Amino acid sequence: MNQNEQTSMRFELVQLPYATDALEPVISKQTIELHHGKHLQGYVNNLNNLVAGTKFENADLTTIVKESDGAVFNNAGQILNHNLYFTQFAPSTGGHPTGKLAPAIDATFGSFDHFQKEFENAGVGLFGSGWVWLAADKDGKLSIVKEANAGNPVTNGLKPLLGFDVWEHAYYLDYQNRRADHLKELWKIVNWKAVGARL
Ligand code: MN
Repeated sequence: MNQNEQTSMRFELVQLPYATDALEPVISKQTIELHHGKHLQGYVNNLNNLVAGTKFENADLTTIVKESDGAVFNNAGQILNHNLYFTQFAPSTGGHPTGKLAPAIDATFGSFDHFQKEFENAGVGLFGSGWVWLAADKDGKLSIVKEANAGNPVTNGLKPLLGFDVWEHAYYLDYQNRRADHLKELWKIVNWKAVGARL
């Protein structure tokens, strides 16, 4: 195996912690197969090709996102974003935040209901493609962050806890133009245990 072949395997497609049809009807099997198997796989392939032989060849994903720009940033950011996205869901979960995240959300947003409404509004109000994040600063203070395109709060020193993808590829097959309806449905599959563990 030559060096190029080794480096081309550096970043791998994150494994789904559920079957591709497990999130139905909130997210269809077809959307998961395309979103995870085609879109995310594409970002992984692109980044492996882009970093080979560069200063980012042996860097971790977060470092690349913080220090790169252009195509490297776009593909690394989308891998980081989707790794967080696909591992924050589980079938038949939803409900309310648990652990220390629950009082933190209440303290910052007034209530979980109010947080959900603000989060959905941020996603609906984001023009074009991007992400809405619940993020924490180094003291654990929470905020809702809107990021365009491949953006992630790590570039501003924040820790991403929960991310809703508002690129059309995330919802168009199932919801067409109804982004607001899609975002509202996503609460039904959030695995709050997994999200809280990121705090
Ligand atoms: Mn996506």
